[in-house]
Amino acid sequence: MKILVQKFGGTSVSTADRREMVVQKILKAKGEGFSTIVVVSAMGRKGQPYATDTLLSLISDEYKRENTLGVDLLMSCGEIISTVVMSEELCKNGLKAVPLTGGQAGIITDDNYNNASVLRVDSEKLLNIVKQGKIPVVAGFQGISENGFITTLGRGGSDVTASLLGAALKSEEIHIYTDVDGIMTADPRIVSDASLIKKISYNEVFQFADQGAKVIHPRAVEIAMKSNVKLVIKNTLNDCEGTIITSGAIRNTENIITGITSMDKRVQVTVELDKNKCNENYNTILDELAKNLISIDLINVFPKQKIFTIDGKDINIFKDIMDKLELNYYCVEECSKIAVIGSRMRGLPGVMAKILRTLTKANVEVLQTADSHTTIWCLVESKNSEKAINALHNEFKLGC
Ligand code: ASP
Ligand code: MG
Repeated sequence: MKILVQKFGGTSVSTADRREMVVQKILKAKGEGFSTIVVVSAMGRKGQPYATDTLLSLISDEYKRENTLGVDLLMSCGEIISTVVMSEELCKNGLKAVPLTGGQAGIITDDNYNNASVLRVDSEKLLNIVKQGKIPVVAGFQGISENGFITTLGRGGSDVTASLLGAALKSEEIHIYTDVDGIMTADPRIVSDASLIKKISYNEVFQFADQGAKVIHPRAVEIAMKSNVKLVIKNTLNDCEGTIITSGAIRNTENIITGITSMDKRVQVTVELDKNKCNENYNTILDELAKNLISIDLINVFPKQKIFTIDGKDINIFKDIMDKLELNYYCVEECSKIAVIGSRMRGLPGVMAKILRTLTKANVEVLQTADSHTTIWCLVESKNSEKAINALHNEFKLGC
């Protein structure tokens, strides 16, 4: 039996027309000999009646804080509604579909409501349904605790459900359907000739998702990577091949860079020893920030200087902490962290040189850099960010 997990996001199941397109994708997979497991998200986006954010707007923030169990019960309804509506659509097209909650599909979690961790997947029931030639339509983003309470897996968690089921049932592939063609070499709103990435490694896509590209939940990538199941991101609205995510070496491309993303609203902080000479607190700044749950990155520690970035949303708490510690520092606000991603850059001399040369030529000042095996990050002022991304995209010939 060849199993395929097909996950359809909120925009793919939002209208009757789109659900009809979903049916066609499922029929196509069946025609290719696959036994399909369907995973669905809640229908539509904020403002539409059954979208997760709309459901959340029905209760107050105070209630949300104190009743996380209730919040999960409420949020789970969106996906449950989708499973039944989608199942009817499949039945109308002559397919036998069985709508299931995450719990009924065997997703067992801890009781960390709103962001539960999956303990195991009891896939027997699901497998029996598949063996009977029926299509399970599983509510994404949810599970059940061992005490029998409904839990959710964290926002965007339907992708995680798809990967969990794909891994548990050893599916051939996991297809994540959305309303774009796949992962692009850059944000097309920034780079007009951004092109579709046809093949990408798990590690690279992890960098993309992590950088806010919002294509796929990083946890879903992690699960697929561990169980070595091929993930494909596809568009419900057309027949584009999409982006294939695998562990294998990526051939058919000469380019060492796969794509570029960026993260805005970063603040660069510099604290100098010379300006804080008699202040013991200089040595424990990072501890104090950690205690206050402020996460930092692009961290460079020198004998006489500490430089790092924080999220712009933390700036006020950060300033309060520094004032309390009586530390002198300076900030460059409104920065963007640009990530140049490509696993083929590993061990290859000259990539950083080329990036810096390109940015200098484009008159973009680089405030800080960092690198890993798959990514080089450059911090620039946000006013230069679009210019920098376009120059790099052009230099590495990523356009269509
Ligand atoms: N409906 C959930 C959310 O909006 C889960 C998902 O769409 O993946 O976060
Ligand atoms: Mg999503």
